[in-house]
Amino acid sequence: VPVTSIFGVNVSKLDMKGTVAVLERAVASKKPHQVITANPIMIMAALESEENMRAMREAELIVPDGAGVVWAAEEFGDPVAERVAGFDLLHELMKRGEELGWTAYLLGAAEEVVQEAAGRLQKQYPKVRIVGVRNGYFGAPENAGVIESIRQAQPDLLFVARDAKTQEPWIARHKHELGASVIMGVGGSFDVISG
Ligand code: UDP
Repeated sequence: VPVTSIFGVNVSKLDMKGTVAVLERAVASKKPHQVITANPIMIMAALESEENMRAMREAELIVPDGAGVVWAAEEFGDPVAERVAGFDLLHELMKRGEELGWTAYLLGAAEEVVQEAAGRLQKQYPKVRIVGVRNGYFGAPENAGVIESIRQAQPDLLFVARDAKTQEPWIARHKHELGASVIMGVGGSFDVISG
């Protein structure tokens, strides 16, 4: 994947179509791929926290989610093809999943939010089987159980909607135990989808 460096963070230069093609191969590989949707807040978090920076360094793909990131790449003289917003990428992956019969797991947000988001996504993309739904309010005692339930579901896509500072380190720490192929932090997306 061609990348451009923004404060030491390697951001993909691919357009949406190329990004989906790369992630299609990631699903076929059955190996974990953490996708980080970079915006300026997350790059700041990485500059301030070693764990967030490590998640960025070890992510398999970082897409330019924020207009500020697209702007910075342009400013540093090595532009990206286009903005690849996380919310749009979620929908593009569900669309591709319709054609290829993928499964998805939704983790994060409040219980009624994630249930409603799952219902709406299932209606919009009926051929993507939603194999699990779990709210994002859990702590250390529940962590192993959450991981185990995802691992048993073996989803092609795992969307994680928690706050920006914790979702990426959590994914980075556990991606090899989750049994999911494409794992993407989607922040407040379930709130938007649930209306
Ligand atoms: N969230 C969660 N668990 C937490 C904290 C937040 O599931 O421990 C969810 C929250 O319900 C929302 C999403 O994460 O759906 C994004 O939260 P917020 O907007 O507070 O985070 P930000 O994107 O501002 O960092």
